[in-house]
Amino acid sequence: MSLQISQEVEIIKALDVQKVPKGTISRYWLNLVTDGMGQPVQIPIIVARGHQDGKVLGLTAAVHGNELNGIPVIQRIFKEIDINELKGTIVGVPVVNVPSFHRKKRRFIDDRFESYYAW
Ligand SMILES: [Zn+2]
Repeated sequence: MSLQISQEVEIIKALDVQKVPKGTISRYWLNLVTDGMGQPVQIPIIVARGHQDGKVLGLTAAVHGNELNGIPVIQRIFKEIDINELKGTIVGVPVVNVPSFHRKKRRFIDDRFESYYAW
């Protein structure tokens, strides 16, 4: 079941919100870095782009792998958005720190966080 879902989600190397179709809520996997086995570390991104251009709002959750409160908040916001009323764009990253989220730990396996993502 989850395999079918992941196949439907576009994998991207960078997010250009201007290329997201207007009047849609789109989902992506963003390839950030590769892990020690050379496999991509992907983070989920949800983008709601209104029909009219406007400001861009970014929402993130689980920057630390044990901070889960924001995940359902972001999911709920995108579930409740009326895309026809939205002016501008909302970019949501429900889990930023995917490696630590999978391990149910606050920090990376080497206890670092800040140096892992190069942004
Ligand atoms: Zn934190």
